Formats: sequence, C-alpha cells, structure tokens
Amino acid sequence: MEKDNVCIDCYNQIDKVSKVLKLGQAELDILTIPKRILTFSFPVKLDSGEIRYFTGYRVQFNDSRGPTKGGIRFHPEVNLEEIKTLAFLMTLKCAVVNLPYGGAKGGIMVGPKRFSEQELERISRGYIREINGFIGPDIDIPAPDVNTDSKIMAWMLDEYEKLKGRHAPATITGKPIALGGSKARDFSTSMGGAYVLHEFADSFDMKPKKTSVALQGFGNVGMNIARILHEWGYKIVAVSDSKSGIFNKDGLNIKDVINHKQKSGQLSKFKNSKNISNEDLLELKADVLIPAALEDQITKKNASNIKAKLILEMANRPITPEADDILLDKNIFVMPDILANAGGVVVSYFEWVQNSMNFYWSEKEVLDKLKTYMTNAVKELSKVCTDFKCDMRKSLYINAINKVLEAERLRGNLK
Ligand code: NAD
Repeated sequence: MEKDNVCIDCYNQIDKVSKVLKLGQAELDILTIPKRILTFSFPVKLDSGEIRYFTGYRVQFNDSRGPTKGGIRFHPEVNLEEIKTLAFLMTLKCAVVNLPYGGAKGGIMVGPKRFSEQELERISRGYIREINGFIGPDIDIPAPDVNTDSKIMAWMLDEYEKLKGRHAPATITGKPIALGGSKARDFSTSMGGAYVLHEFADSFDMKPKKTSVALQGFGNVGMNIARILHEWGYKIVAVSDSKSGIFNKDGLNIKDVINHKQKSGQLSKFKNSKNISNEDLLELKADVLIPAALEDQITKKNASNIKAKLILEMANRPITPEADDILLDKNIFVMPDILANAGGVVVSYFEWVQNSMNFYWSEKEVLDKLKTYMTNAVKELSKVCTDFKCDMRKSLYINAINKVLEAERLRGNLK
C-alpha cells in the first residue's frame, strides 16, 4: 500500500547512481516516495458568473534538510507525476547549492491565457486557500514557475496573510520588491548560470574573448544570460527564439539584438546577421552551447552532430538520457540543469532570509553572495568528479543524494 505514491520517473532518474551508491530499500523509498502529496479541486467564480472547478497539486518531496521549496506552475497539462518529479529535482537542486531546504513543487491545471486578469487572481487566491495550512516560512515556501510571476505571488501572499491575520512575507518568494522581493531576483537564474560557466570555462582555459557561444531561447533566462556573457566579453555567435534564429561568426552585439527584438518583436532581420534554424544552431561549431528554451532539445537524433565542447543546461532537462550517453562518449562536457540554473532558487533563499531578518540587501550584496554559492557548488562538484571527462550529472546526483540521506540518518530515519 505504502508504494502507491512512488514516483516512477524519480526511480528512473536515480537508477544509475543507486547502483554506485548501493542504496537499500529504505533509502530508495526516501528518494522515490514524496513525504506529502496534496491533490484538490476548488471552485472559482468566472467573470460570466459561471462557477468552474480547478484541479491543484502541491507535493512536498523531502524536508530532511529544511522547509520545502519550489515553484507553482499554471499549465493545462500539469499532472501529479510531473509535479512529483519536479519536487524531487528541487530536493536535489537545493542540496547541490547547499541551501537549508528540501524540495517541493505545485501546480494548477489551467491554461492562463484563456482567463482574464481578475479570474487569474481568483484562481491564485483559491489555490492558496486550499494549501494555506500546509505552507509557511518554516514548512514549505512556494515561488513562481511556468506561467506564474511576481504579480501572482503578490496575490498569493496577500491571500495567505489575510487567512492568517498577520504579515508573513517569508512564506512566498519571487514577490515584487515593494512587498519584500529581493533585488536581482529577475535575472538571478541567468547570473547564476553565468558564474557557473565562467568558473568552468576557466578550468578549460577558455578565455571569454576567445570563447564562442550559441544560445537557444531568448526569453527571461536566454536574453539575460546573453546580455551578461556579452558584457563579460564572450562572443555570442548565435541566438534563437521560437520563431527564428540569427548568426554572425564574429559575434552579435547583444545590446542591439535586445533593442531590435523589443522594437520589432522578432530576432530575424537583425543587421549583419544570417538567419539560422534552431536545428542548425544546436549543431554549430561554437565552444559553448546553451539550451535555454525547452526540454528534450538534444536527443539521440542530433546528439552525435553536436560540436560544442561544453553545454550549459539553462533550460530544465534539455538533453534526453540517451543523448546524455552519446555526449559523454564524445567527451562533450555537460553542466547539468540542477546546478546551472540554480541561481533563481539561491536568490529565492536570499529573499526568504531578508524577509526573516526584515533587513534588505543591495543588488551588489545579493550578487556577491550568489557568486559565492554558485562557485562553491562548482568547486564541490569538481572534488566529487576531478576528471572533466567524468559524468557530471551522475556526480551531482551522488553529491545531492548523499546530503539528503545524511540528514535522514542524523534524524534517525535511516540506519
Ligand atoms: P521564457 O518563456 O521567458 O522563454 C522561453 C524562450 O524559449 C522564448 O524566447 C521562446 O521564444 C523560446 N522558445 C520556445 N520554443 C522554442 C524552440 N522550439 N526553439 C527555440 N526557442 C524556443 O522562459 P524562461 O523563464 O526563460 O525559461 C527558459 C527555460 O529555463 C525553461 O526550461 C525553464 O524551465 C528554465 N528555468 C527558468 C528559470 C527562471 O528563473 N525563469 C529557472 C530555472 C529554470
């Protein structure tokens, strides 16, 4: 009976490392069965007066290292299996960057574009009414994710505080700055990835000016990391979004590309650039490839054509497991998502710390601390995996799983 809640995808993800770590049944259970799963439906009055029921989830996977932490996504295809896997990955991500947190994730089955702003506000507040007894600064701390943003976090916090009758800003992160959000939160994922790349490029003796970068995805993460790396002197030779891609072998002026995209709404027709398809961008002969758009972009179909020396996974799960094996055989170094894109959750942690102290840091203080957390995690990883040809994903999983199991052991939950 107790196995009913097992997360099959989590099982598959730890399969390779469970053999290396010789995990026993109790350890496997901790890593594949979430601690708490909430599934619920709640009514929302639409603008038309009609009442619609929405399905919501919150999974708190493991809290041995601290309160659980993870985003809330709005998507019509949200489902419990996906939320369980994402909550498991948050557990590992927080352990990798040494945050005193466990992992969680939540979501509502809703296509947000089909609802008015007022309806979305009522949906957000309805969700919090269902989970308010299970979240809080010392229990579980939600944040934005796919299709949710600081405005939605503000409504959610307000609903929580109304229900509790007191201020509690540390309950939710990713808030607007006026409600206790942190400086630099909006580009923290990209800045964290840039610090990781910089640290690793250095170990490869790749100097920014001589390092070419191809980047897939030009949204929040892609545009910001392009801007940062360009400012640091890296040569960004290609960028793309869902509609088109552009290429210049001598490097694109990213500030001008951003202006061009903001004015024209597209990347194509940028001066001194050639159009390039997304498929060709991934296979370009650039030193660094950064997938920053969607999952499953590098698969067994195109992995053998990848020519980059180093791949920085800014998107979540852009490389399939089969493609991962092919890249490893080709000695292409992959910096996995659970470290590369952890900058957002690190600054979420800083937001929670600032809310708890009621004392706020400057942008410089936030970025200095972010740099320390990200570079320390890279150094720690290098110790686990001293040979750069080794499998970084396996090393990160081993490192994170050991931390979670150590906490469980110290609590007396494991022999
Ligand atoms: P976003 O919606 O702001 O941007 C996504 C970008 O990808 C857009 O430019 C879009 O045009 C482009 N895109 C979509 N389909 C594409 C395709 N087929 N080919 C090329 N480009 C395509 O999203 P985001 O917040 O920048 O997130 C990007 C990725 O990073 C996602 O995988 C997300 O889960 C991950 N991530 C984001 C954060 C964060 O803080 N925003 C944190 C961790 C991980």
